[in-house]
Amino acid sequence: MNEKKLIAIIGAGESGTGAAILAKKQGYEVFVSDFGEIAEVYKRELSENSIQFEEKKHSEDTIFQAVEVIKSPGIADKAPIIKKLQARNIPVISEIEFAGRYTQAKMICITGSNGKSTTTLLTYHILKNAGLNVGLAGNIGKSFARQVAHENFECYVLEISSFMLDNMYQFKADVAVLLNITPDHLDRYDYKMENYIASKLRIVQNQQADDVFIYCEDDPETVAALKHCNLKSKDYPFSIQSKPVEGAYLDNNQLIINLKNQNQFTMSINELALQGKHNIYNSMASGIVAKVLELRNESIRESMGNFKNIEHRLEHVARISGIDFINDSKATNVNSTWYALESMTTDVVLILGGVDKGNDYNMLKDLVKSKVRSIVCLGKDNKRIHDAFEDDVDVIVNTFSAHEAVNMAYHMARKGDTVLLSPACASFDLFRNYEDRGNQFKKAVMEL
Ligand code: ADP
Repeated sequence: MNEKKLIAIIGAGESGTGAAILAKKQGYEVFVSDFGEIAEVYKRELSENSIQFEEKKHSEDTIFQAVEVIKSPGIADKAPIIKKLQARNIPVISEIEFAGRYTQAKMICITGSNGKSTTTLLTYHILKNAGLNVGLAGNIGKSFARQVAHENFECYVLEISSFMLDNMYQFKADVAVLLNITPDHLDRYDYKMENYIASKLRIVQNQQADDVFIYCEDDPETVAALKHCNLKSKDYPFSIQSKPVEGAYLDNNQLIINLKNQNQFTMSINELALQGKHNIYNSMASGIVAKVLELRNESIRESMGNFKNIEHRLEHVARISGIDFINDSKATNVNSTWYALESMTTDVVLILGGVDKGNDYNMLKDLVKSKVRSIVCLGKDNKRIHDAFEDDVDVIVNTFSAHEAVNMAYHMARKGDTVLLSPACASFDLFRNYEDRGNQFKKAVMEL
């Protein structure tokens, strides 16, 4: 009898459902198991594809028969089911690793602690506008596996999180981008920075001489980590502080990109659609990718000038009674909040807080002292934020909903100030996700 091999999928969100559809298409028997509830749309889709699934439990008898298990990035390696799989030597891989086996498309993979989504979307925008048959996937939009099952792109721009990288082994990025490494998600890495750095460096694993690696030369963690990395690919650094011979740099407010055997790219930073220092880095990274693919300078300039970023990233919401309200809900770690504060040109009432991920708030101290009038904490438990800043700012108050936080911030702000939601924390204590937090913030602002 020719029995089909079983692939088990743990977690039935967008990535798990996409992986299930692809695995089924590739002729595997597929079993999807989710310890929580599965959203109706995914249940319907799994049923329509005759894929077996279960929710609110893990049937170990079935799962342990799998030749391979695909794990959603949201599930930690410490989860009991994953530990049991490891103990049985059943390979646990990510959806990206699995789907990568079934496409010949060129892989442009973007990782980093901050700026992933922005840089992924900007890169996709530049490539698409230049006429490439390009897909967008990874930690954003429709899952990579789902697209590999249905589409036929010549290249993909993939946003890759460290949780995805953790379960990637054979996958190779033709072009890898590492934007920066600053502390984030340390709760998933035994609170050890070296474990998190090692995860990020997996973006270059399996790369060969004809592959490309793009990184930020101003980022000390990246530069230090690269010293111990046996890099085989061609590397292109980008920098604001120095002028690498090959790569991207600034010269008199001109963004310059110089790559081997290519004409030089120049563009005034005032013409970039994305403003702020952090976005110069993001634009440099995307620009190098575009040049690596030998796109025309004119086309790259046009796309970098007319790109529209998505919601929740330093998004201007409204000006009310002379007070600006900015939604930076996507700032879910201390470093991204640092960049948000750094780019502020007025006094700030800062809305901070949520689920602490082992944050070190010290790096915000100087900016808080110089720019922040008061802090409004948003979340169930913000004791660590109180302890960190109570001696630095005049007022620090607790709130338990976006509505309450916005009203409080509005009363504390003066004409000409900015109310900035840039929480440095995850949102799950009060909200479904950072989008929900940002949307509730915007709604509350519009109701003022
Ligand atoms: P990610 O997908 O990595 O979470 P996003 O592009 O969604 O990153 O940006 C999240 C937040 O991080 C933004 O609101 C911004 O404040 C900050 N940010 C964006 N790019 C950078 C960067 N290159 N370095 C530091 N902070 C950044």
